Amino acid sequence: MAQFLEIKAANPDCLLFYRMGDFYELFFEDAVAAAQALGIVLTKRGKHLGDDIPMCGVPVHRADEYLQRLIKGGFRVAVCEQLEDPAEARKRGAKAVVRRDVVRLVTPGTLTEDSLLDAKARNYLTAIFGGQTANAAGAATIALASLDISTGEFEVGEVPAADFPGEIVRLAPGEVIAADRLLADEVVRQWIGIAGAAATPVPGASFDSLAGERLLKAQLGVADLHAFGAFSRPELAAIGALLKYVELTQIGRKPCLRPPRRAAPANRLVIDAPTRASLELLRSLTGERQGSLLAAIDRTVTGPGARELAARLSGPLREADAIAARLDAVAFLQENERLRDDLRAMLRTAPDIARAISRLALQRGGPRDLAAVRGGLAAARRCTDLLHKGAGAIGLPDGLAHIARQLGACGGELQNLLVRALIDEPPHLRRDGGFVRAAFSPELDEARALRDDSRKVMAALESKYLDQTGIKSLKVRHNNILGFYIEVPAVAAKPMLSEPLAGTFRHRQTMAGAVRFTTPELVETEGRIVASADRALAIEQDVFAELAAAIAAEERGLGELATALAALDCEAGLAELASEQGYARPVVDDSTTFEIRGGRHPVVEQALRAAKAGAFIGNDCVLVAARSDAPTGFDEVTEARLWLVTGPNMAGKSTFLRQNALITVLAQMGSFVPAKSAHIGAVDRLFSRVGAADDLARGRSTFMVEMVETAGILNQATDRSLVILDEIGRGTATFDGLSIAWAVVEYLHEISKCRALFATHYHELTALAGRLPEVANVTMDVREWREEIVFLHKVKPGAADRSYGIQVAKLAGLPKPVTARAAEVLALLEKQDGKAAQGEALLDDLPLFAARPRSHMPVDAGPSPLEAALAAVNPDELTPKAALEALYKLKDLGMKGRG
Ligand code: ADP
Repeated sequence: MAQFLEIKAANPDCLLFYRMGDFYELFFEDAVAAAQALGIVLTKRGKHLGDDIPMCGVPVHRADEYLQRLIKGGFRVAVCEQLEDPAEARKRGAKAVVRRDVVRLVTPGTLTEDSLLDAKARNYLTAIFGGQTANAAGAATIALASLDISTGEFEVGEVPAADFPGEIVRLAPGEVIAADRLLADEVVRQWIGIAGAAATPVPGASFDSLAGERLLKAQLGVADLHAFGAFSRPELAAIGALLKYVELTQIGRKPCLRPPRRAAPANRLVIDAPTRASLELLRSLTGERQGSLLAAIDRTVTGPGARELAARLSGPLREADAIAARLDAVAFLQENERLRDDLRAMLRTAPDIARAISRLALQRGGPRDLAAVRGGLAAARRCTDLLHKGAGAIGLPDGLAHIARQLGACGGELQNLLVRALIDEPPHLRRDGGFVRAAFSPELDEARALRDDSRKVMAALESKYLDQTGIKSLKVRHNNILGFYIEVPAVAAKPMLSEPLAGTFRHRQTMAGAVRFTTPELVETEGRIVASADRALAIEQDVFAELAAAIAAEERGLGELATALAALDCEAGLAELASEQGYARPVVDDSTTFEIRGGRHPVVEQALRAAKAGAFIGNDCVLVAARSDAPTGFDEVTEARLWLVTGPNMAGKSTFLRQNALITVLAQMGSFVPAKSAHIGAVDRLFSRVGAADDLARGRSTFMVEMVETAGILNQATDRSLVILDEIGRGTATFDGLSIAWAVVEYLHEISKCRALFATHYHELTALAGRLPEVANVTMDVREWREEIVFLHKVKPGAADRSYGIQVAKLAGLPKPVTARAAEVLALLEKQDGKAAQGEALLDDLPLFAARPRSHMPVDAGPSPLEAALAAVNPDELTPKAALEALYKLKDLGMKGRG
């Protein structure tokens, strides 16, 4: 217990998994907490200071499963192992305690096991630093350093404090570490929570930029960091805390670290957190992958490919050249269908080598991780061949040529070694051996032969003893306590207990129905079996270490290869998507053009198709037309930087607004887009807001949230931004809301000068189109048919003349008396339009439901007698006479209905 208490005291904020034989045991409060979280039995063991010690345990072979649940439940776990064989400890004395120590802290941001991770999602550990310090320009900034220790992916950047929410949501880390001071900031803590990360405080002293520089150089094995770009002091401080925390949790074992990706906002499309949520990029509003843009566009066939796609989607680019390079690769694969199919078939066989290498580096890998590297190398080689063969006369586009080079970055020597050394399907565990191929190591072959020969010798001994004793039921058996022994039934044992046989056979044990013996020869043969098996196992462990070292020596090249495989899968997947869904290659340049023809909503389109609910109607959006003299062949539409979109609910306004934002995101991440054509001047910041979204969790009313978010847009949007506002200003009284919406449109037009789509119910706003040169009205086309409304989902120039609110309410199933009454009120209000002061007189003219005679109330009592009779008539079955009778009856019913 003293040992336990000491180790526990060193890890106060973790549950301690204390290894005892085949179990991890938990004690005291840890046991109480874990038993409750895992639903396992709480028992007790011994006493401490006079009280029972609560205890619970999990079997070692199922530890991953329990760890996963505890980590999900917000716990951190310190794994304490036995560092020696209990037999070793006994040599030091009967009371000696087995040496134990913590070998690893398991926290949400430091997972490496496939069973604890999502194959399709990155798992960043992110250190954040700053907040109050100002950069050279005087603005507060936050530096972020993120490492996925399961793959070595590493990313560093510094953003203005205002952009922190969007950045942390983009990174979506599993765990964020920060100094107490920063975590005390409620806003910072809230955004960490919204990003889905656990927040772990670390001492402020960890954020030491000099230490950061030193640790980073040591990790990357370089004397100078310039090759990776310039790091600011705050960035180095964040890196310092990150690497220190990794050291702390991995107890000195070094993870792989790929060269850092620099995340400079200047070459990124900046998307703030509310926009990410509102556009449902990676998750739907309900928090699931299903229904998100990511789910709609993911055609990748590997985990690493899916992770790369998600990273590209959450961090689209801004530089036209970089975007074009990605589009070239997708276009090439889209055109070369055969090559794409072959590549995808090959990629399907490629294991997740980044995660395998990382486990090996942390000494947590097994034979299957070695095999994963072998498989990855083989897939890479075949993909390179396919790419070269598919290059054709024009050659590969730069992006794919680069991928082909990276795929070849790792020598064939390593692969040959792994092929020679490993059996085809190695076991999961390293411990029991049995993974090295025959003929790889002569020494191992010899030890195995000896072991197997000795087993044969043992079989031969059995028949020899059978002959010698004449006891037909004599058997040579084995158990863990006695080792090998000879067993005969008790009734037959007598001759063996007396001379001459007793000279050879020594009595060992008498059981209920059997007697057990041994012989010097048996003991000696057993010794040879055990020794050769031990030796074979030891040699296999050496081979493992040798292979792991060979892999570690190629870490850099393998990392590049893993990156290239992921990028190839991502690009081939986007090409597949483009073909399957009929997407077009967008033009992205440095202009401020925004001309989308026949645009569709990628998620709604697929949903409609899946539900067989009709085709999606494509719509144009021309905010700034591409300057070209050539006829476009498209319809004439109003070109204006800011479109005011009106139309009834359900007409498709939100869908139209969002599809243009999503097309922008897709284009700038380097994907084809759902449109006939798209020309987009690269957007620097994208904003999308939907009015009337309550944020009760954060204790703010609809209107407050709306205004805070609108303020964010007005303060940050530039003339290169794209702003999508849906129904802003509805959370307050009509005139307030209208005035605010009015002023916002003016501001966007005059000051921000951004490209914008603004959907509104305030018809009064449409007057702005006449006052501001860059504002145009468009509306969603609807047809009225016998008081019903039909949505055409087509955007056309002009403003909606009415809201059709009452017709939509009818569609929604509001009781007839209510819609009829609403129609009356509306008619009166329209008559009095603009005479607000007469509001009261108006109300006086409108008797309330209660004051009206009931007979005036249209009752929602199902079909009228006339309708019912009409429905009952089947013209095909009627004789001429019956038809005439039916006609008289209907006429009669009709007259009654009127009276
Ligand atoms: P609004 O914002 O005007 O209330 P929505 O954009 O929510 O309307 O659209 C309502 C529904 O109409 C959508 O869920 C979708 O099923 C359908 N819809 C919208 N736009 C289109 C379109 N262009 N083609 C086909 N169906 C559409």
